[in-house]
Amino acid sequence: AVTTESTTLLVIGGGPGGYVAAIRAGQLGIPTVLVEGGELGGTCLNIGCIPSKALIHAADAFHQAASHAGESPLGIRAGAPTIDVTQTVAWKDGIVKRLTGGVGALLKKNGATVVRGWARILDGKTVEVETGGDALRIRCEHLLLATGSTPVELPFLPFGGNVVSSTEALAPASLPEHLVVVGAGYIGLELGIAYRKLGARVTVVEAAGRVLPAYDDDLAKPVAASLKRLGVTVHLESSVPGLADDGRGVRMKNGGGEESVLAADRILVAVGRRPRTDGYGLESLLLDMNGRHVRIDNQCRTSMRNVWAIGDLTGEPMLAHRAMAQGEMVAEIIAGKRRHFTPAAIPAVCFTDPEVVVVGMTPQEAATLGVDCVTASFPFSANGRAMTLEATDGFVRVVARRDNHVIVGWQAVGGAVSELSAAFVQSIEMGALLEDVGGTIHAHPTLSEAMQEAALRALGRALHI
Ligand code: FAD
Repeated sequence: AVTTESTTLLVIGGGPGGYVAAIRAGQLGIPTVLVEGGELGGTCLNIGCIPSKALIHAADAFHQAASHAGESPLGIRAGAPTIDVTQTVAWKDGIVKRLTGGVGALLKKNGATVVRGWARILDGKTVEVETGGDALRIRCEHLLLATGSTPVELPFLPFGGNVVSSTEALAPASLPEHLVVVGAGYIGLELGIAYRKLGARVTVVEAAGRVLPAYDDDLAKPVAASLKRLGVTVHLESSVPGLADDGRGVRMKNGGGEESVLAADRILVAVGRRPRTDGYGLESLLLDMNGRHVRIDNQCRTSMRNVWAIGDLTGEPMLAHRAMAQGEMVAEIIAGKRRHFTPAAIPAVCFTDPEVVVVGMTPQEAATLGVDCVTASFPFSANGRAMTLEATDGFVRVVARRDNHVIVGWQAVGGAVSELSAAFVQSIEMGALLEDVGGTIHAHPTLSEAMQEAALRALGRALHI
């Protein structure tokens, strides 16, 4: 049987983009239906941002405990720890459940209707959802596509058995003895480091000439040094053409074309994510595309009237906070508010060890764009708080226009620098000058003093270096 309903806004996908759009639309009194085939919270809450950060925290805690089992310089004397991975995964699942339950409650509180099932697009105003054998046809005035992305699968190394994507790597039934990670982007390294800290042997294979190839060399270097210290083997300019003949590992080709075999009992393929654009009728809308992504304008409108798209589906940076900001904006535009998506900067964070933050322009990008900039950095080795945290690796770097000192970029590498990303992006969004940050009293002792000192250094008057 087919039941037909109608609504003003129909959102496909309950990830950070879609659920935020639906909450805001509900708050604004727009009749809204959100269709989710998997779990509310999408990739981010279920198999992305949150579970990865939980696993990283557990790995850090274990690694810390293990580091105190020997002769800890802190004077701590403890026995060698053990880990029950099943319990770790259950703890992570508990966090995910709390958060996804919260999303469901917020949608309900704000009057958005949630339909569970996979949506199929019939046309720009009609979607059909299979719900337990029956079909629900929903007509809408506005269709918002927020279907996200999926891990890229390599045809010669398909997922299955001991070849896993980040999804399976976040819920291991056991720890591998030797994990090979294909791809040294942020997802591969975040998980690779976590597994190493949990006690697995880890080897990373990367086609580019450095780890974190999307980031500049200065930022990648401290991470590369840390991988070495942690005992992670890294093969650069190398590729994995397929499984080893016995299936117990992979073949690896180095830059010189020589092949060898890496024996491994688990292989994590982390070579990127692709937007989810097929399998549910999206193609039939014949929307303008931007490569593999749906093309949008600065209001997240697609090439079809009243069809909107947000989040990973629409391109880089494929990050949860971008999806959320777009979702909130689309709901407001539909409610009649004048909004455009023109952020001065979108922060990007790698939760590696050390962490990496990039906000706004790097010195290289400024040079490429012909913006004449001053650049200065301040090392955590000269920051008191970093010493007390045993986190003296890395630095904060500021990029500002030479003519008027407006800050256009911040980059940082170091322990817990993810938390500095807010101050970085606020200063750029608010048009702060080097003098504003340099002249603001920062709490002592904190890592954020490195931010103030970098600004002062760019002005030629740093105090602590
Ligand atoms: P998604 O979160 O992918 O949600 C899309 C939803 O749509 C899914 O729930 C899916 O089931 C549903 N859907 C798809 N098709 C249909 C259909 N036809 N019918 C019904 N429902 C459908 N980002 C960060 O900002 N910070 C991080 O630290 C971070 N860490 C990450 C770690 C990992 C391991 C991974 C994989 C990703 C990480 N990301 C991180 C990226 C982040 O998860 C995504 O950018 C974000 O989830 C994108 O949100 P979205 O709303 O566009 O799509």
